[in-house]
Amino acid sequence: MQMLNEINNIIIAPHFNLSEFACPCCKRVMLHPLLLEKLEKLRKIIERPIHITSGYRCFEYNQKVGGVANSYHLIGLAADIKVKDINLIELLEICENIDFAGIGFYEKKNFLHLDVRPTRRTRWRE
Ligand SMILES: [Zn+2]
Ligand SMILES: [Zn+2]
Repeated sequence: MQMLNEINNIIIAPHFNLSEFACPCCKRVMLHPLLLEKLEKLRKIIERPIHITSGYRCFEYNQKVGGVANSYHLIGLAADIKVKDINLIELLEICENIDFAGIGFYEKKNFLHLDVRPTRRTRWRE
């Protein structure tokens, strides 16, 4: 069914489509508006495409990729991002200014985990 390829193909912000946040295995998706708002803010500052390498994850997919059991990816509050041609530290500093509640800095794999968890600000590095 050709039509099913269009699932989640919905523009939800000037620079984001809902399909970018969907779980790769089942296409299910949850996304908190605050996460989207902050990502759009980041996109406008950096003026470069943000590649969402992991948005929403279903339970099975989260296990498959080795995510922690209480991952914020499971409830639509987190996204992992990669941006070409920008230093990861520079990107981190901009994300700090946007005040994402959770920020994970993955130096070797060259990506940032960003989330809007409702609890206290958390930072980590791998
Ligand atoms: Zn899935
Ligand atoms: Zn993550």
